[in-house]
This record gives sequence, structure tokens and C-alpha cells, in this order.
Amino acid sequence: MEKWMTIAELQEGRRRCKGGVGFVPTMGFLHEGHLSLIKKAVKENDHVIVSIFVNPTQFGPSEDLEKYPKDIERDMRLCRAEGAAAVFLPSAEEIYPSGYQTFIEVTELTRHLCGLSRPTHFRGVCTVVAKLFHLVQPDKAYFGLKDYQQFKVLQRMVHDLHFPVETVPCPIVREADGLAMSSRNKYLSTAGRREALILKKALDDVRDALEKGERSGHALQTIMQETVASSPSARLDYARVAHGETLEDLEGEIEAEGTLFALAVFIENTRLIDNMVWSHD
Ligand code: AMP
Repeated sequence: MEKWMTIAELQEGRRRCKGGVGFVPTMGFLHEGHLSLIKKAVKENDHVIVSIFVNPTQFGPSEDLEKYPKDIERDMRLCRAEGAAAVFLPSAEEIYPSGYQTFIEVTELTRHLCGLSRPTHFRGVCTVVAKLFHLVQPDKAYFGLKDYQQFKVLQRMVHDLHFPVETVPCPIVREADGLAMSSRNKYLSTAGRREALILKKALDDVRDALEKGERSGHALQTIMQETVASSPSARLDYARVAHGETLEDLEGEIEAEGTLFALAVFIENTRLIDNMVWSHD
């Protein structure tokens, strides 16, 4: 497996990849969620390139950029074991050299959900992914549905900017007890780790209510809010019932499959997200 630290190394290495290229962008500290993307990419492409880059432009001023967990040696071992062809590990200066001032913005889908509490987040995500797509020139790129809004925003960007890239959604990978895997779970204390199960419980409560026939968007949103409120230390950022494509709030009767139930909750000082898309099976 190759290790590319600079854009020049990546471009030189990319020219040597003949056939289909799959791409998995990450911020590192890899877990089974990331590995599920890499595994799928390895199955579907001749070469898989993984990027590990903690992208400063997607962090707000009071967020965890400085303390974001890192274990590059372990990440490299995991990528090699999964059969990745190369890992791209650029520095922040390589991606955003001094004087950098160009950004990509998706204007509508980012007005909802995480976009409200993290106003500059998706601008950073779109900018870095657009830059990485230009550099890596993948045929397919793999994203997890744990970050459902991110997937929809990037899908929109790819369409709007005519990137010749197929975006492939991958299911949420969970711990045995249901907690969605996340590099940020590492921040949790033992008690916090237990409290974090409240996100999945809120989604399970919604599923139970749907199975009993509840169809009011407002009532289903209240169920999520009340479940989170029942936890002594969880602090709700948002719990929303939203249209799965436009991400707009659904307050009234929901009918169509594909409705999104999404929430963001602070446990201790860590902001965790989870979601479920309603389907009958
Ligand atoms: P991150 O390193 O958090 O930026 O995530 C890199 C990619 O892995 C994104 O496409 C995420 O949606 C995906 N990912 C992270 N956690 C999970 C998970 N638990 N299940 C599936 N995909 C995930």
C-alpha cells in the first residue's frame, strides 16, 4: 500500500492507477463504520484510495479540531489489511496554503438539521470533498449514512457541479448495543458511553410508534424529544422529522416512505448524531 503525503505524490500515484478508482474520504481514527466503506469500495473497484485529513474548515471556532483523535499507524494498518491501494495523508498547509480563499456552498439543503447548529460546517465539507475529487478523480466515492445530511449535500454538489463521480451511500454501522460508531465516541466517559444509547433509544421509540400507526410528524418529533429529555445528562441539539430528499421539517401527517428521523445530542461535551430513514421492511 502506498502512502502519499503531498498533492504531487498523489497526482503521480493516481496516474499509475489503471482501471476503476474508488475513493473513501475520512478524518481518520478509523472504526468499523469507515472499514465498511473501504470494504465495499475494494469489492467494486480496481484501486481504492483512502484519504485521512482532519479538515479544519468544517470545524466551528469552539469545536474539537485541536483534540480530534488520531492514530495514524493503526489507520494505516487497517487500510492495508482491507486492501486499499493508497492512503492520502496531506497536511492542512498542503490543502489550504496561505492565501487560500475559495469555497463551495450548497445553499438549500444546508439550511436544516446540522446546518443550523453548525453554520459553516457543510461549506467546509463541500470544499474539501470537491478539492479531493479534483485531485483523486475517482469513479466512485463512498459515504456513510450516519451523516445523512452530509451525503445529501454532497450528492447535490456532485450533481450541480457535474463531477463525473458516483456517490455510493453505505448503511450505518453500530456497536453491539446499538450506538452508531463514531470517532467521537472515544471522548465519552464510561457513564457517558451508557448515556449515549439514548440516541438509538429515541429512534427505536419512533419506530415503535410508527409500527403502532402514529403518522403525525409533530407527535413523532415529540417522542424523540421526550426520550432524550428522560436522560439526566443528555442535552438535545435537535430532533427532527424531515423529508428524506429536501430535508425540510415535516410537522403534519407523514405518508411517504423515506421520511428521515434525525437527532443531534450533547453527551457530556460531545455532540453525537444519529438517524433513521423510515421503511416498512
Ligand atoms: P469521518 O471520518 O467521521 O469524517 O467519516 C468518514 C466517512 O465514514 C463518512 O462518509 C461517514 O459518514 C462514514 N462513517 C462514519 N461513521 C460511520 C458509521 N458508524 N457507519 C457508517 N459510516 C460511517
